[in-house]
Amino acid sequence: MQKKSCQFSSKKVDYYFDADFSLLEKLAGKEHSVLITDENIYQAQAKKFKGWNTIVLKPGEAFKIQPTVDSVIEQLIEAGADRKTTLVGIGGGVITDITGYVAAIYMRGIRCGFVPSTVLAMVDASIGGKNGVDVGIYKNLVGTIRQPDFLLYDYSLLKTLPETEWVNGFAEIIKHSCIKDLRLFKELETRKLSFYKKDKAALSRLILRNAMLKSKVVEADEFEQGERRLLNFGHTLGHAIENMYELSHGQAISIGMTAACHLSATLAGFKETARVVKVLEQYGLPTYADYDAKAAFEVLQKDKKKERSSMNYVLLSKIGKGIVQQIPMTQLQTLIQELPA
Ligand code: NAD
Repeated sequence: MQKKSCQFSSKKVDYYFDADFSLLEKLAGKEHSVLITDENIYQAQAKKFKGWNTIVLKPGEAFKIQPTVDSVIEQLIEAGADRKTTLVGIGGGVITDITGYVAAIYMRGIRCGFVPSTVLAMVDASIGGKNGVDVGIYKNLVGTIRQPDFLLYDYSLLKTLPETEWVNGFAEIIKHSCIKDLRLFKELETRKLSFYKKDKAALSRLILRNAMLKSKVVEADEFEQGERRLLNFGHTLGHAIENMYELSHGQAISIGMTAACHLSATLAGFKETARVVKVLEQYGLPTYADYDAKAAFEVLQKDKKKERSSMNYVLLSKIGKGIVQQIPMTQLQTLIQELPA
């Protein structure tokens, strides 16, 4: 086990890498905790939940909505949860987003921790304190920024993770390398998903490196005034098409990153689109897709990154160097419609 901590504005968050699930008893305690998970994880990892008070939700993005939050709150009241209760989200990004949000608003805020169970949640979703729910097709429109108290990484959870979800998680890993870490990008170029699935030590290093990369970015800019915006690489268009076409998050942002590379070529002289596309495809991710660009632009107009008549768009000047550029909405509309499909 390797412990690390990050200091955010309101609290210090402890990370327990390469840990065992049983550590949760020390961090939270069975008597004063309520676990939140989904049906798939509850079934796949049944043993881990023995003796824990657990709320089991329906799986999937479609349930990351306010009615689910209301139902969790009702179950917490029924379970007698109070201000001293710790909520622990055991799951992928859907579960950690919902858990963090409920913990932020239940009794005006209770203690909360995460045990991420997907690669995506380990390297991204459970880190940084953003949480919330979707409203209709608008992703993460409602939520709060509030840090969890701890994150427990038990890699044995990944044994039951479906292949498609591994691929999903690598979209965020590739994103991190594109915006911040050329060395990581070069490592990814020489490897394949099957290598990381087999080599536990390499996977463990990869997850720690990515979790820390995201944490450092958030530590420097928790409330997204500058640097944190880089983490949205591929997400502007990605979020627009994610719920329009019921794509997985990784697939959507992979298509979004490909589009952002083309915009970077036009607006920032980026010359390595083909290299990024090759790595995305190497890890089983889609790059070019035939979507309704006009409809996607309509959805994109509601994106939180829009500021009046322009959008803060994340581009690459080179691999490992993300930049944020304000693009007027009228220009963005034309550029998106001209993207290669
Ligand atoms: P997810 O939570 O839907 O999990 C993917 C699927 O894998 C689900 O069907 C789940 O039941 C199953 N699963 C999870 N762990 C398992 C395990 N160990 N064994 C077997 N099955 C398992 O999806 P995700 O990709 O982890 O997260 C996507 C969500 O994360 C999106 O809603 C996205 O908006 C959010 N997100 C949030 C942030 C943030 O900063 N808050 C960042 C990135 C993504």
